[in-house]
Amino acid sequence: MIKRCPQHGFFRGELCQCGSAGQLVLDETKTEQLGRLVAGGLRHFPADLGLEMDCHGWVDLAKLGEVVLSRHRWASLDLVVAMIQSDSKQRYEIRGDRVRARYGHSVDVDLDHPENRRPLLYYGASEEEADRILEIGIKPASQRYVHLSGTAEKAWHVATFRTGNPKVIQVDAAAAQKAGVKMMTVNEDIVISETIPYIYLSLLATRDMAWREKA
Ligand SMILES: [Zn+2]
Repeated sequence: MIKRCPQHGFFRGELCQCGSAGQLVLDETKTEQLGRLVAGGLRHFPADLGLEMDCHGWVDLAKLGEVVLSRHRWASLDLVVAMIQSDSKQRYEIRGDRVRARYGHSVDVDLDHPENRRPLLYYGASEEEADRILEIGIKPASQRYVHLSGTAEKAWHVATFRTGNPKVIQVDAAAAQKAGVKMMTVNEDIVISETIPYIYLSLLATRDMAWREKA
């Protein structure tokens, strides 16, 4: 759900960071419905919703407001903005009168986020996936870019949603970028990348995954 704190603006969950219960803006169900619709428009099928997207993924914000209102009578541009501003994962960004998804596209976009500066990045995978990846590299499957994590622990946690015993692939990002592979920083946790050839990949040893003992 989305709520509003008089001092800190929109937030998700029961309480604002300051402890205020705030005022309800949108309930859980509608927040989910709006979230799926915006993701569809900005990540997966803009044309189906009548949205025009430029090559960097930007869409007209007012037009997106019209689209959500045409689908849900309770929706509005203000609610889209509230949803975007309260999103801790920073899925979307608003610049002037335009809006775009920062990552997670299945449509063909050419994103222009800042270049990655971490020398090492990580990718979580199942055991079978890991074997295959080490032989052929990491390629985007249903998405435009590969999503990498800034820490091994984060990569492992993300992969636990898909597999019981994740392996962690370490990516020599510095070397790959030097060789021309484009990698971009999306937020604190996520780096997106073009296809990564196998020569920049190695399997992280289980003994280097100390957090597993604590989990
Ligand atoms: Zn607050």
